[in-house]
Amino acid sequence: MPLEQKIKYENDCDKEFAKWVSSQTGGENLRHCIQCGVCSATCPLSLYMDYTPRRLINLAREGFKKEVLSSFTIWLCASCYACRVECPKEIQVTDIMYLLKRKAIEEGVFPRRFPIPVLAREFSRMIFMFGRVNETLLVTDLFLRTNWFKFLSMTGLGLNLIRTGRLSVLPDSIKRRGELRKVLEAIESDEKKEAAK
Ligand code: SF4
Ligand code: SF4
Repeated sequence: MPLEQKIKYENDCDKEFAKWVSSQTGGENLRHCIQCGVCSATCPLSLYMDYTPRRLINLAREGFKKEVLSSFTIWLCASCYACRVECPKEIQVTDIMYLLKRKAIEEGVFPRRFPIPVLAREFSRMIFMFGRVNETLLVTDLFLRTNWFKFLSMTGLGLNLIRTGRLSVLPDSIKRRGELRKVLEAIESDEKKEAAK
């Protein structure tokens, strides 16, 4: 990484974003972090992250919105909760990762062509539409949006799975989808209200 990208200035901070993270469920005691690095040492995926969990927590609480929301870290987090269990200050690292993911999707700033945010968004959309996920449509949509070459290389395997009845092309749906949608809309509305606090 070039040196100028490593240096962070106070002018680059978005104090409103820092306040927002601390006001969300899970972010309440963010400022208690002592930067001990136990979360990074415990995390099985920190090796692959662009910012370790310790660095991400520090950037988030100081308001480095762009760096945090466009990082790979939040998408690589596997929600194993190891960091949360070991943190001496009981910082809700995993929940903070979730709220940053939601914010990144909301603002459309996740890394381009990175499959995990696309998968998360399409998964939610299918649940909202049908109450169930159709793997064929989900995987097709994912590859078409993120990796055409992968899509072409997987076509033969996909067709075989469809032919042998392992995958279905028709979306399966639950009964009383309307009721599920009302529940999901109520959750979304609550989340928006909390985010706007
Ligand atoms: S383990 Fe907890 S206190 Fe230590 S750096 Fe991570 S979040 Fe901060
Ligand atoms: S919850 Fe995420 S950040 Fe925490 S240890 Fe597991 S993978 Fe790492």
